[in-house]
Amino acid sequence: MARILVVEDESAIAELVAINLRHAGHEVTLAGDAAQAQAEVDAVLPDLVVLDWMLPGQSGLNLARQWREGSRTRAMPIIMLTARAEESDKIAGLDAGADDYLAKPFSTHELMARIRAVLRRKAPETLDAVVELGGLRLDPSTRRVTRHGGAAAQELRLGPTEFRLLHFLMTHPERVHSRSQLLDRVWGDHVFIEERTVDVHVKRLRDALSTVQSAHLVETVRGAGYRISEQAHAAPA
Ligand code: CA
Repeated sequence: MARILVVEDESAIAELVAINLRHAGHEVTLAGDAAQAQAEVDAVLPDLVVLDWMLPGQSGLNLARQWREGSRTRAMPIIMLTARAEESDKIAGLDAGADDYLAKPFSTHELMARIRAVLRRKAPETLDAVVELGGLRLDPSTRRVTRHGGAAAQELRLGPTEFRLLHFLMTHPERVHSRSQLLDRVWGDHVFIEERTVDVHVKRLRDALSTVQSAHLVETVRGAGYRISEQAHAAPA
């Protein structure tokens, strides 16, 4: 399951894409223009954006360029849709930072395949890739988490659930995750667990992080859930 933002002003196409994505188990948000798309991205960073080139007002191409420049949106996967099928347009789209490009009319089957491919490429938690954030370094292959910044790296001691939780948060930084989303993504959707369990493990994670002065990285967003953020400020001592 991924959170996908579909930016498309033609409602018939937007609906068709949304129906297919929802059918595949994704959570879909629609935006009809650049301003609306920007507002959605500001609220919650999506896992992927399907972005139409031709939009009323600011173009999708400009929007893609802006997102590539922003530190928060730089790594956000973008699949560009366009009525243009010229090679030069394709190059412009990819130059603007799109991860893939699809010319209209496209088959939804092909769009879904492209989305799967981009999500696979961008899913570091499946690849055992080392993740770094806010001075923390998490290595899934050795299951070690270290904090560096001082003279010597300090190692964190984490239980298996806290490790998975931290891994998920570090690979999906800056966005807010609700408790039920964390249960789905960290615990697995086949398990029935109370949402309060998430709070217990977040507290354990913060306790572990506080031993290396990093508890402030995990933020509580009142009424919404949790997020890990590099921009989080350390609480005054
Ligand atoms: Ca359009």
